[in-house]
Amino acid sequence: MKIGGDNPVSVQSMTKTRTRDVEIVRDEIRRLSVSGCEIVRVAVKSPEDARAIREIKNEISLPVVADIHFDHMLALLAIDNGADKIRVNPGNITRSDHLNAIIDRSKEKGIAVRIGLNSGSLPAPRTDRKSPDEIMVDEALRYIDIFEKKGFDDLVVSLKSSDIITTIKAYRDIAPKTDVPLHLGITAAGTPSDGIVRSSVGIGSLLASGIGDTIRVSLTGDPVLEVETGKRILQSLGLREYGHKIISCPTCGRCQVDMVVITGEIEARLKGEISIPGSKKLNIAVMGCEVNGPGEAKDADIGIAFGSNKGAIFSRGNIVKTVNVDEAVEEFLRLIREMAVKGKQ
Ligand code: SF4
Repeated sequence: MKIGGDNPVSVQSMTKTRTRDVEIVRDEIRRLSVSGCEIVRVAVKSPEDARAIREIKNEISLPVVADIHFDHMLALLAIDNGADKIRVNPGNITRSDHLNAIIDRSKEKGIAVRIGLNSGSLPAPRTDRKSPDEIMVDEALRYIDIFEKKGFDDLVVSLKSSDIITTIKAYRDIAPKTDVPLHLGITAAGTPSDGIVRSSVGIGSLLASGIGDTIRVSLTGDPVLEVETGKRILQSLGLREYGHKIISCPTCGRCQVDMVVITGEIEARLKGEISIPGSKKLNIAVMGCEVNGPGEAKDADIGIAFGSNKGAIFSRGNIVKTVNVDEAVEEFLRLIREMAVKGKQ
């Protein structure tokens, strides 16, 4: 999985179980892989965790990133045990001989390093009254310089904060100052209800302005949800395609059918079909009324707009077929499949 340049923005997550519990971690990584995770990070807190990376990788194909804090020896051990990338935090690996040892070993093994700044663990207090975003940028550039002076450029940088504005400022500041790929995230974003919104706003606004090469949504919850949210952010910005894109109206007093149930059924039944190789990914609209539906969703490849007992199936704003409400979902799904498969030919 390459990061940066013309490569697609990738989705990452992090395991939430002890890395030394190899079987449990492997199961977690398998679930993440099935959900679409492309890079997985594991916490390395002890030599047992670092050594477990070798066993984990025996049965796992996802690139594994070792997350290191404080102890550079753990980084070296993780590298020796097959880590594909090391994440180091300049806030707590500060000795130059320790950093140089990590650079040398990473170079020797041909693996990447993420310089992972975090506003909650910045280097020692400074006297220049700079804000956290400015300090993160300064430290990241200083670290990049150290690596590059040693001829090491297989780098990724992240500048995370739980404060969205601080995070956005930091990435906007550093983006024009370096070619190093940027890993985006809002750290400690919270439970899914808050964290999904915070991550979507923070990561989404940066991606929308062309900043970011890989993302991780951080949630206090199932990491699979982190991946699903990350994919949705990318798809909503048109940066990746993971399947059909469904839009549906919020309904209003004009609607005469149960849109929540109907849209939920269409979404659920299409979900298993998103990975048909080569099939065309469609923009699909489900609209609550015939009066405004086709017009409101005129960009849709295919859509359906409901009346009192009919559903009008339309394409690009033009009605192509009318069906009874009780057969509408089946017929709509049949036409979607037909249109999607045609995309393969
Ligand atoms: S498509 Fe029709 S039912 Fe849906 S919000 Fe618009 S006017 Fe209301």
